Amino acid sequence: MRVISGKTRVCALIGDPIEHTLSPIIQNAAFQYLGLDYVYVAFNVRAEHLGEAVLGIKRLGVYGLNVTMPHKINIIKYLDELNEEAMRVGSVNTVLNRDGRLIGYTTDGVGALKALKYAGIDPSSKKIVILGAGGASRSISFKLAEYAGELVILNRTVGRAEELANNIREIFGGSVNVRAGELTDERLRIELEGADILINATSVGMRPNENETPVKRCLLHKDLVIFDIVYDPLETRLLREARLIGAKTIDGLWMLIHQGAESFKIWTGMEAPVEVMREAALKRIGEVEA
Ligand code: NAP
Repeated sequence: MRVISGKTRVCALIGDPIEHTLSPIIQNAAFQYLGLDYVYVAFNVRAEHLGEAVLGIKRLGVYGLNVTMPHKINIIKYLDELNEEAMRVGSVNTVLNRDGRLIGYTTDGVGALKALKYAGIDPSSKKIVILGAGGASRSISFKLAEYAGELVILNRTVGRAEELANNIREIFGGSVNVRAGELTDERLRIELEGADILINATSVGMRPNENETPVKRCLLHKDLVIFDIVYDPLETRLLREARLIGAKTIDGLWMLIHQGAESFKIWTGMEAPVEVMREAALKRIGEVEA
């Protein structure tokens, strides 16, 4: 049994809802494995209480935060500083409390990049098709635009995809090749033909709609790397169908682990034990589903 003392550093997740989160399992497994005197808890914070909660975090000296829906954008106005990437993306999922100053970061994009690299996939110069233009897609698209040969953002609401593509062009100028379009079967057929990597950053396929898929099986091909950031279920219909045609797949838990590992590094200055974190998460998923 670990000992909590007066010196234990407290990290926390804030969001609403948070009862099904895996973050405390993942982060506490890492702290324990490395023998660090940190503990990680989750607080359900309603949208209308966010400002008071952030002030409380400051005053109580909570050392690090993860921020999830629906607070990733709204928390920005309560922070003292943002790192460059969080400012660019307009979203924060990690906070460091440095002597009472709250500094915001976003680790979703780098988490997705590391998930790809950990699976042996180098996105450099590749044609990447990303589905969705919500918060997660914004973070991932900004990060991968730095590497991709071609980035195509497809979204149900095409205006959001266009806005994201424009935002990326404004930041990176002519050095990036980014296009936007509507998420339709016809557009997918055209774009996926010569693509190397497909990323689902929509919520399609997430429980309780696990029978849905954003891409019909007949549009997939085995030379595509298929990365679904949805992690509940762990193997989405998209990933199952991709596996059945022999394509390489990466599940959303890998992104969750790697974005958490980056948060861990911001708080502790240490590399996180990603295999230990994933094992703990898989054990938890098994217990819940048993
Ligand atoms: P969000 O901001 O609400 O964006 C949702 C996106 O999904 C939008 O692009 C939306 O399109 C699209 N969408 C929703 N329903 C759709 C449908 N029926 N058909 C087509 N498109 C649909 O959510 P988010 O924060 O980006 O999260 C998206 C997913 O990623 C969630 O499942 C979340 O759990 C997961 N996620 C995973 C990680 C991880 O670490 N693995 C991290 C963050 C998020 P419109 O713009 O047209 O509404």
